[in-house]
Amino acid sequence: MPPADGGRDDRSRRHLGAERLDRVQSANVLVVGAGALGNEVVKNLSLLGLKSLTLVDMDRVSLSNLNRCVYFRPDQLGLPKVEAIRQALAVQSPDLKLQPHDCSVEDAPESIWEADVVALCVDSQLARYYVNLNILGRERRPWVVNGAMGRNFHQVQVLRPGETACLVCSWTPEYHAELFSREAKKSCDTFFEEHRAPFPSISMLSSLCSGVISAELVALLAGGEPSASRGCSVRYEQAGHHMSVGRVYRNPRCVEVLCRRC
Ligand SMILES: [Zn+2]
Repeated sequence: MPPADGGRDDRSRRHLGAERLDRVQSANVLVVGAGALGNEVVKNLSLLGLKSLTLVDMDRVSLSNLNRCVYFRPDQLGLPKVEAIRQALAVQSPDLKLQPHDCSVEDAPESIWEADVVALCVDSQLARYYVNLNILGRERRPWVVNGAMGRNFHQVQVLRPGETACLVCSWTPEYHAELFSREAKKSCDTFFEEHRAPFPSISMLSSLCSGVISAELVALLAGGEPSASRGCSVRYEQAGHHMSVGRVYRNPRCVEVLCRRC
């Protein structure tokens, strides 16, 4: 006789415990970026039974997204990424209340910042800068899990601006100035098309990165013993399959004045 089916949450509950799973499911999560990382993070959280998720991205589904974005289909080319994900979740996780925002994070409504945690799944440094500035300007600052992908590595930083290093503590004044000389309002896809060859990217690397992002989000939301990654950066190098964790220290001369004042 096969064991009785314990329901959709059975295995998740066995893994996390009922109380911790309940805390995760009741949380309000903001995911900024609906590309390769955003797809996977939304997938992981929705499969855990999350009930409230806000998703922000201003890009459209393109053919080159289809090698690594689990929710995009060939018949959705040109559709807003957040809408493509909304359609998929309506079938896969109908109980999830998704708030999709087809715009840049700068133009998103104020209500997105009511989130308990923020998953930063972008390849735009301007988006990182804006999220950092916005959180530093608030009294109630959520934890942020920031994912970044390189050609052969990924890095995930767990931080709370104002308490740990902020998202721009490592920037030099020269880098900061150069960034703002670029055309800020273009979508990241358009920027990459015009300024450089398409970035190499493969689904297993984005799955690994978003797996770490999701695990850190769950650790933050579930409560209990704080994750050892808080204030740290977890880096995975594909060549050599090497993973390392290092603390990221606050910069007293951070380019962001609000960070220096905290
Ligand atoms: Zn800083």
